[in-house]
Amino acid sequence: MGETATRSEVQAGHPPIPLIGLGADALAAELVRLGVPERQLGMRLRQLKRWVYVRGATSFAEMTDISKDLRERLVGRFSLARPQIVSEQISRDGTRKWLLRLAPGGSCNGAPGPEIETVYIPEEDRGTLCISSQVGCTLNCTFCHTGTQPLVRNLSVGEIVGQIVLARDRLGDWPGRARGEGGGEAAGGQGLRGSVRESTPDGVRGGARGPTVPGRPAGERAITNIVLMGMGEPLLNFENVRDAMALACDPDALGYSRRRVTLSTSGIVPMIGRWGAEAGTMLAISLHAVDDDLRNVLVPINRRYPIAMLLEACRNYPGLSNAKRITFEYVMLKGVNDSPAEARALVRLLAGIPAKINLIPFNPWPGAPYECSDWETIERFGEIINRAGYASPIRRPRGRDIMAACGQLKSASRKLRARERGRGHGDERAGERGLGRDQKRGRKPGCEPKANRA
Ligand code: SF4
Repeated sequence: MGETATRSEVQAGHPPIPLIGLGADALAAELVRLGVPERQLGMRLRQLKRWVYVRGATSFAEMTDISKDLRERLVGRFSLARPQIVSEQISRDGTRKWLLRLAPGGSCNGAPGPEIETVYIPEEDRGTLCISSQVGCTLNCTFCHTGTQPLVRNLSVGEIVGQIVLARDRLGDWPGRARGEGGGEAAGGQGLRGSVRESTPDGVRGGARGPTVPGRPAGERAITNIVLMGMGEPLLNFENVRDAMALACDPDALGYSRRRVTLSTSGIVPMIGRWGAEAGTMLAISLHAVDDDLRNVLVPINRRYPIAMLLEACRNYPGLSNAKRITFEYVMLKGVNDSPAEARALVRLLAGIPAKINLIPFNPWPGAPYECSDWETIERFGEIINRAGYASPIRRPRGRDIMAACGQLKSASRKLRARERGRGHGDERAGERGLGRDQKRGRKPGCEPKANRA
């Protein structure tokens, strides 16, 4: 601390440090190196936090309560870059999907950075942003498109928070800032570089068009809820996801209520209680089966953490109450997990846990080994659960025409060798994928539920 960055140091090509996601201690240390007196540090940290996360600044020139001299030094040291947009697709139902390119991680020898997907789902009473925590996934759930893409790497804090910042740019979700105003000069020109594709009843039409978010009342936020249900298993990138959600829920930063942030896990049992204690968000469990034999196939991590162990962790989730219920996700697979007997078993399994059960009509993807349950079957399944006193909404498929629905996300990024991705979490995948029961039960690709009835 105390060493000041010199002009030659800046000119020597030290890459700018991404400001989005940078922790307060690291930022303070860099500010001291830039010559900011210790007595001003608290004020400068507050100013920068406000500009980055409350105002959505894309250039240091906007930061008018910071002296011109310091702003010039900030330009040399920091970047306000967002992930680069490769493409933006808009579904006929208003759902948006962004394919985002990240900076290369590890020793990539100049190769382009990996890609991830982020999805925005507008509804009447809320706007949900579904964000990714990893590039690809190690867990190979057999109903999930992401599971067919091997893990490339964990996302950094900045890359996780950057998805929220970028979505707010594109949706005009900053107070006093026009829509789609990302990509100022200090943001490194990282705004929209790819194409905007809007899905229409006649198909998807391309073209470099601006975003077209339907109007909403003044002062109403476009993004009201954050869900960690995109690419990856968030509890296998625990620290970065936790620190990113701390910024998302900090009232002086992005300011979302913890009740409006949901982490969805396939069941990394040892981390569930820790997440509740350290992050305290809402919890969703990808359950999908009521017995271990089937769940071992659908969600292979079940072999390590079987259902009984998972539900015990749920019963002990910090803060669990009727007001803070756990959501159990249950994808409806024709002839696989959708019988009335399984609905009744589900009710018995969850006894005593304040819970809501989301029934998800299976969203097909190319080569998927499953078919979606018939709509009547889904409704009958839901009625059994409902009669037992559990809320059991059937999730309306959103953004299917742009492959943005639940379980459909996949980018083209390829796997790095283990030594290239450095010290990531252990490879949970080895030997855990095995088709067995799914091959015997309902293996017909290409099914569509009666979405018009959803
Ligand atoms: S459902 Fe989640 S944990 Fe399972 S493969 Fe897909 S992204 Fe990974």
